Amino acid sequence: MVDKKVLLTREGLVKFTLTTLKKYGIRPRKKLGQHFLVDPKLLNVIVNGLELRGNEVVAEIGSGIGTLTLFLAQRCKKVIAIEIDRKLVNVLQDVLKDHDNVEIIHADVLSLKLNVDRIASNVPFNISSQLLEHILKKCKFKIAVLTFQLEFAKRLYAKPGTRDYSRITILATYYSTIRKLYTAPPSSFIPEPKVFTQTLKIMPRERPPFEVRDEDFLFNVVRELFTLRNKMLRKALRITCRNMRVGYEVLDKALRELSTLLDMRVYELRPIDFAYIANVLFDLMKESSS
Ligand code: SAH
Repeated sequence: MVDKKVLLTREGLVKFTLTTLKKYGIRPRKKLGQHFLVDPKLLNVIVNGLELRGNEVVAEIGSGIGTLTLFLAQRCKKVIAIEIDRKLVNVLQDVLKDHDNVEIIHADVLSLKLNVDRIASNVPFNISSQLLEHILKKCKFKIAVLTFQLEFAKRLYAKPGTRDYSRITILATYYSTIRKLYTAPPSSFIPEPKVFTQTLKIMPRERPPFEVRDEDFLFNVVRELFTLRNKMLRKALRITCRNMRVGYEVLDKALRELSTLLDMRVYELRPIDFAYIANVLFDLMKESSS
């Protein structure tokens, strides 16, 4: 049984990580974003950020060698530990064998529709965007505490008019509210990533912040428009309508209805402006097809 007191210090965490990797012959795979937590402060931030009372079901995405899982198991009713790497699943079964409230699932998280109280993840960097979209659109939860590469985290709460403002900002804003919890240096992990990470608390909104006629349509429009982020809306809308096979008649009417926004650049538009643009197009298309 792993002595959890050992895991309360950096030295203990480093030792646990190195011996476990050696014992099971694990060579961390970059492609799967395998960086294992060795920072007691960060562990604390994650566990506290989840606001556990003891009766929650927590999904941990990418449990690795089970470091965070061990802490979660003590603080909640049940942990669902999801791990894609077969070798690490074997490690988890061993490391967590004395915890009967941990269920280990060998799967790609993107194939699971989770319905839980909490989600925790030190997110595999290569799937940051897909994972966020997946949990916001397909999963049910109250609080997620997610650790991202700093550059990616910044995009989630970026303000209009800034370089980091992007499609994923609109998505995150529409579905959730976000709080920054902690920024950690590369040395918080073994092996060290090249960059800092940032831990965010993400809470799904109970109701949308603005009215949207059709969510899929909105995000298609947002995606198209952001490929033209530096263009004026006037121009970007023409190209977008062409790409989305929206007729000229609809485009003409839309340009008139959206006149106050046309001289703004795509990256300067607020989330609510994108919703307005998509709604106008959606209504005009419906009108012209009926
Ligand atoms: N939570 C552990 C490990 C984090 S590293 C810790 O903090 O120490 C990220 C983990 O996610 C790795 O174990 C990796 O194998 C796993 N992973 C990567 N892609 C995944 C996917 N699509 N589904 C589930 N797990 C994944």
